[in-house]
Amino acid sequence: LSFHHCGLDLKLAENTLQAGYKNPTSIQMQVIPAGLAGRDVLATAETGSGKTAAFLIPIVAHVWSLSQMYQAPIHTGPTALILAPTRELCMQTEQIAQSLMSHLPNMRTALLVGGLPLPNQLHRLRQGVQLAIATPGRLIDILDHHPDAFDPSHLRALVLDEADAMLRFGFEGQVARIVAALPPCQTYLLSATIPDPVNRLARRLLNDPVSVQV
Ligand code: AMP
Repeated sequence: LSFHHCGLDLKLAENTLQAGYKNPTSIQMQVIPAGLAGRDVLATAETGSGKTAAFLIPIVAHVWSLSQMYQAPIHTGPTALILAPTRELCMQTEQIAQSLMSHLPNMRTALLVGGLPLPNQLHRLRQGVQLAIATPGRLIDILDHHPDAFDPSHLRALVLDEADAMLRFGFEGQVARIVAALPPCQTYLLSATIPDPVNRLARRLLNDPVSVQV
């Protein structure tokens, strides 16, 4: 089975090949069609399963079709947001997102994480991006102190990656505050395990989700 069978746009399918992905992994075969169909997704998946591309491929497809449909002015806020627990994970995710976006015109990402200069991140946001990849702490900092830089009103898709780690690191309150500031979004929640706090978050956030286990 190839990525073409997942219902992907040709350019995006080509980018998956360029990224070195020949055949979808098990989680990708389940999450990509559900995501492209607009469903919320609850996935139990560990690093190494191909989980990152599993949510990024339908997210990039979604964001790209929005940018083509509305020819959105470049200074509006992002249409998709990915929250992840660590700077390193956000950086890896942004790299994969950029490889999936290559040759798609005017697709821009912002990396919003601690430990890197905030002014650069604000500048990039103000230039206009389609996809923001953030740790909860840095995004809260931006929402609290630089609300003009991050306009959440155009968001249509949200990913909570490694949700168990995010809650374990004490980000529960921050995640709740961020979600409360967003419009209704198609939501993907990924977690290696589903302990009670993750289950509660999933019940609160997800609307009739497709459940995926690998
Ligand atoms: P992840 O589980 O997202 O951390 O991905 C683990 C590794 O698998 C990464 O190095 C990816 O580049 C790679 N990968 C993801 N999807 C595929 C695929 N369909 N075919 C081959 N490699 C993949």
